[in-house]
Amino acid sequence: MKSFWLSLLLCTWIWADAHIFVYHRFGDSRYPSTNTTLEALRQDFTYFKEHHYTVVPLSKLVQALKAKEPIPDNWVVLTIDDNYKSFFQNGLALFKEFGYPFSMFVYVEATEQKYGDFMSWDELKETSKYGELEFHSMRHPHMTALSDEALKQDFDEGLALFEKHLNQKPHFFSYPFGEFSPRVKAIAQSYGFEAILNQNMGAVASFSDVYDLDRSALVGKSDLPNFLKYKALNATWNEPLFLGKDSKVSHLHVNTTGIEAKKGGIYISGHGYREITLNEGTFETDLNTVLTQERSRILVSIGNKISTKLLVKDIYSKQH
Ligand SMILES: [Zn+2]
Repeated sequence: MKSFWLSLLLCTWIWADAHIFVYHRFGDSRYPSTNTTLEALRQDFTYFKEHHYTVVPLSKLVQALKAKEPIPDNWVVLTIDDNYKSFFQNGLALFKEFGYPFSMFVYVEATEQKYGDFMSWDELKETSKYGELEFHSMRHPHMTALSDEALKQDFDEGLALFEKHLNQKPHFFSYPFGEFSPRVKAIAQSYGFEAILNQNMGAVASFSDVYDLDRSALVGKSDLPNFLKYKALNATWNEPLFLGKDSKVSHLHVNTTGIEAKKGGIYISGHGYREITLNEGTFETDLNTVLTQERSRILVSIGNKISTKLLVKDIYSKQH
């Protein structure tokens, strides 16, 4: 009996999942789809506290992943995409009140050109006393729409200005709009970031790729307790990986590791959910569909374990 409980304990210990969340605007009712009201933010923070979640810096999670240490189930990481003024004016006070660390991903041009809704360099420096400042591109482009040269230019210019004004190199990068392809990922990785974050709903486990970390967005009317229930599926996506010129997706092929389930689910935005029979943990089926939306999400699931791919067009990629 003892060994049963021990193995159960080891199981949960080894397969525990952390969750990374992303916020955008705070207490700014002009943009309901990217805003978090201060009431909702306080609710999220109170939920973490009351349910014994530990909010850790992103750097601590990445360190644990790289050291292959177990990831505690109650770890939560908070990130903020875009350096909106509403964070400095409304959000920061609550992070201070709860003593929660955060990572803010900076859209460099917006601060450099003093775009109205964005924080100044001085406000960013003040913010860096409470959280980590990281990189979110120079011009906030749709990266898969840029050639290799244009993409590198965006990184080069943005990183130079970031370092000049903030006297530090960023350790982490998050894709503008959460959009990338294998080509964009390879270029981003060549800049030596220690981790890269997407914007796919999910969780982070010891097997997660530090250059493709999932984040769930806590904006609008998001459901925090529900997000926390999701676990990471140990999945390798073979196809699809991005959308070609014709937006056609003919085949889906995703391998999973450590799964014995016979059935899984596939969800495609705009096309709904369907169940599929797995072949030794492999999702493989013809889709033969044209994804007409600019961005389409494909999610594969086994129970509450999920893996998501955001498909966007990349006409510069060689593989089709
Ligand atoms: Zn952004």
